[in-house]
Amino acid sequence: MPTAATAAVLRARGAPYALEPVVLAAIGPGQVRVRIHACGICFTDVGVQTYEQGLPLPQVLGHEGAGIVEAVGPGVTSVAAGDHVVLSYASCGACPSCSNAAPQYCANFMLLNYAGRLPDGRAPMVAAGQGEGGEIFGGFFGQSSFATHAIAYERNTVKVAASLDFATLAPFGCGMQTGAGTVYNSLKPRAGQSLVVMGTGSVGLAALMAAADLECTPLIAVDRNPDRLALATSLGATHTILADGADLAAAIRAIIPTGVDYIVDTTGVGPVIRAGTGALASRGQLAMLAVTPPGTEISINPNILLGGRALRGAVEGDADPQVFIPWLIARHRAGRFPHDRLITTYPFAEINAAVADMKSGKVVKPVLLMD
Ligand SMILES: [Zn+2]
Ligand SMILES: [Zn+2]
Repeated sequence: MPTAATAAVLRARGAPYALEPVVLAAIGPGQVRVRIHACGICFTDVGVQTYEQGLPLPQVLGHEGAGIVEAVGPGVTSVAAGDHVVLSYASCGACPSCSNAAPQYCANFMLLNYAGRLPDGRAPMVAAGQGEGGEIFGGFFGQSSFATHAIAYERNTVKVAASLDFATLAPFGCGMQTGAGTVYNSLKPRAGQSLVVMGTGSVGLAALMAAADLECTPLIAVDRNPDRLALATSLGATHTILADGADLAAAIRAIIPTGVDYIVDTTGVGPVIRAGTGALASRGQLAMLAVTPPGTEISINPNILLGGRALRGAVEGDADPQVFIPWLIARHRAGRFPHDRLITTYPFAEINAAVADMKSGKVVKPVLLMD
């Protein structure tokens, strides 16, 4: 059945979101309709709102939804109406990557997360009262959760216990998974190894909390914002470096003369990444997580890599959400991953203020409340 909902619609690049009444399409096989109660805002939403990245408009963004399943389509067995769920990125389940437990590198990732339509070609929603002429694109990360209701898939709908509130759950779907997964799954540092986090937004602080949990030391946070560095210290950073244009590699080597074992870069800023490569120990690894603006190029001295060093990327923390999100929630509940300290909640209607506060650095992880 088509479902009435309210969605924050992005109608033009760079425009503010407008809350509008919409009608969701009926769900099909393998799909799940979720009543969204909370949705985090991630910098990927901000990037799509700001830059031309090929996504069709008007569109509903939002990819950290949490809520309660309302209905499931034919063939869905792992979740049922009434289940509390966290929504993550979508994957096909059949391609070589998905078959090898790496759904984050799904061959159909773009189709399932960015195409703007459901796989059968339908628009996931229309403007209320406008019928087919009022098509609104969605399916963003297999969800589009800046809305009271979303259509997701069984594969990206993660059933969770009903014991955590939705605002706490929502950021597990992307930002926390991305930052923490890069440390727990991609880099896998041992206790006593050193790690630097460059850029202490929510993803960087998630990486930092994971590294603190694994007892990395020294554990160094780098940012331009002194308040963020104070927060990083309270979350376990042993050292901080205020990025003020001075030689970052030298500042890291002043703390660790032999170089750092692991670096997580969340800035996507060429000179910062270049400086990071100059601070790596032999066999050190630098993982890049940020989607950089179009036209970005990075130059490094290639001889740096000869010391067994590696520069790599990672998507969604190399995590299978069905496995990793319940694991990370357990880590949180054990007091080892206190990401709730990063969250500031906003009523859904204040989505534009929440985005502005995130961009200015006033808040770390805004989470919208839909109920
Ligand atoms: Zn796949
Ligand atoms: Zn994200």
